[in-house]
Amino acid sequence: MIDSHCHLFDPPLAEDPEGILAEARGAGCTGVVVVATWASAWESIADSRERVRAVLPESRVAAGLHPWYVHEAPVDWENRLSALLPRLDAVGEIGLDRGERAPALELQEPVFVRQLELAAKAGLPVLIHVVRAHDLVLHHLKAFQGRSRGIIHAFSGSPEDARAYVERGFLLGIGGGLTRENAHRLRRVVSRLPPSSLVLETDSPYLGTETVPAGASRPAHVAQVAGRLAEVLGRPLEEVVAVTSSNVRGLWERP
Ligand SMILES: [Zn+2]
Repeated sequence: MIDSHCHLFDPPLAEDPEGILAEARGAGCTGVVVVATWASAWESIADSRERVRAVLPESRVAAGLHPWYVHEAPVDWENRLSALLPRLDAVGEIGLDRGERAPALELQEPVFVRQLELAAKAGLPVLIHVVRAHDLVLHHLKAFQGRSRGIIHAFSGSPEDARAYVERGFLLGIGGGLTRENAHRLRRVVSRLPPSSLVLETDSPYLGTETVPAGASRPAHVAQVAGRLAEVLGRPLEEVVAVTSSNVRGLWERP
């Protein structure tokens, strides 16, 4: 089982990363994708790659400029991110967000596109955050067809959005939202998606599950997501774990 999106070095998880990883291993995890979303965290995430893999060998590290932070990025962010790419496994999270917390889209879009370009040039996958902006993200990904791959993290769009992402070679990240009692629409959408397009995630500590409050989740809780996804898809748990893990590995096993 692989948690394709967690923030291991954000508080409170950062207090005991090794303990959190060991707990995830106990829950059946073989890897986590650790994500850094603002520039001051990039260096240390790149430095942490071997430390994380020492506990969970299938782990990967990613760094990018999250849409919420584009307006506070250092002027040399692009050079700094470029210089780190050889020590990263993915660029992310990056994306577009029409929510209230995000800065103006005019600030987000050029930064998103520049990071898509950096990743494409380096041959790295991208981890994409999308809030009420599937139309725009799909529009930009069209220009990168065949050059870009990755995960639409915490997917919660329509069946049409899902299909369009899959056609563009993207995987859909399924997280704790699926476990919530009232997530009827999401479960209906996910139940019709091909398992070959799905990956598991926690977005820990930020996103919770039905039983774990937001802000307090950990990578080990990916097991809850896996269990619920198996129910929703009507497939055996082992099969869902095997397929979603293999989907994540596929991002880095390219011919
Ligand atoms: Zn995240």
